Amino acid sequence: MNGITLASTQVFAEHDLVRDGFLTIDGEGRIARLSDRGGDADFDLGDVAIIPGLIDLHIHGREERDVMDADPAALAVISASLARHGVTGFLATTVTTSWDRTLAALQVIGETDGNALPGARMLGAYSEGSFFNARHKGAHNTAYFLEPTPELIDQMIAATNGKLKVLALAPEINGAMETLSHATGRGIRVTLGHTDATYDQARAALAAGGCGGVHVFNGMRGIHHREPGCAGAVLLEPGMVEVIADGVHLHPGILQLIVRLKQADEVVLISDCMCAGGLDDGDYRLGEMDVTVKAGVVRTAGEGSLAGSTLTLDRAVMLMAEGAGIALREAVQMASLAPARFMGIDHETGSIAAGKRADLALRDPTGRIVATLVGGRLAWLDPEWDRGPALRAAMGAVSA
Ligand SMILES: [Zn+2]
Repeated sequence: MNGITLASTQVFAEHDLVRDGFLTIDGEGRIARLSDRGGDADFDLGDVAIIPGLIDLHIHGREERDVMDADPAALAVISASLARHGVTGFLATTVTTSWDRTLAALQVIGETDGNALPGARMLGAYSEGSFFNARHKGAHNTAYFLEPTPELIDQMIAATNGKLKVLALAPEINGAMETLSHATGRGIRVTLGHTDATYDQARAALAAGGCGGVHVFNGMRGIHHREPGCAGAVLLEPGMVEVIADGVHLHPGILQLIVRLKQADEVVLISDCMCAGGLDDGDYRLGEMDVTVKAGVVRTAGEGSLAGSTLTLDRAVMLMAEGAGIALREAVQMASLAPARFMGIDHETGSIAAGKRADLALRDPTGRIVATLVGGRLAWLDPEWDRGPALRAAMGAVSA
């Protein structure tokens, strides 16, 4: 197998936007070479851009399936659905439920080979549940809230077979700080979320090893001029902030504020998508909560709290670029290189650079993702894209 060379008028490379680029994928599914000097392309994409595959750190479900189904088939559906939107990697994210059901969902993640899923790779588990403050519960069922302990974290690590990557908690609740130290000591990234932590409490948690804010401003104490809250702390201190750029969770003015305060690689676009993603409006469930989707916006049935989203990362990239007034390439990096750096996997993926895995998406000038490559393998091809069959034939020819 000799690999394939794709030509495109726009390649969103790690360090700049390469015009009229030639990108060669080798037989191992890696990026062998990127050049702006002519040559022979096996396939000319024309004005379809090559962008890095997107990474969704925080995603609960899609197309009627939820990580909490504790079913390998659900993870496969989510993986395939994400690939349709240019996503090549994701963290399967839990939501609060009974401890037994939480462990069951984590165990399925642990037993599933994330590389063998049909679409986006599953990169591990994100625990969003159980250890939160009822004052900012969002769509989490407070009946199942627990005081965090190192023992509970060890149970989660064991259930996932070591694949627990991120743990969200409210640092001000009993046991949280000791648990935070224990989790970071075991290599888990601890994020602050669904929390009423004050500015000082949040800063103390960040100083103790916490490394980010869960869907910043949502589910946390906001900024008051005499008490800057958890939102103020995660924006001012070093560390990652998750951003739901769906046009609903955060005002464009707040998006601008975030990009002015944070380094570009500290802003991570997430979908926080739940099982209604990719489906019509209607009544659904998020974990054990009844929720209603209206015009794509998800709210809890009773109190009407925002309850995740139906967002896709390809759309988030566009809305972020528009809302925050930044270049598209920068917004793309907030959904690729930034999450890869946060997870410590940017030597492997997250950008277009020689030596990295060919985790790529092909984006037409309207923003539609027409194809997604996971490790050089065609994981999604838009059946409506008129040049799709020719690309498939070109890729088939070189991999035969
Ligand atoms: Zn949440």
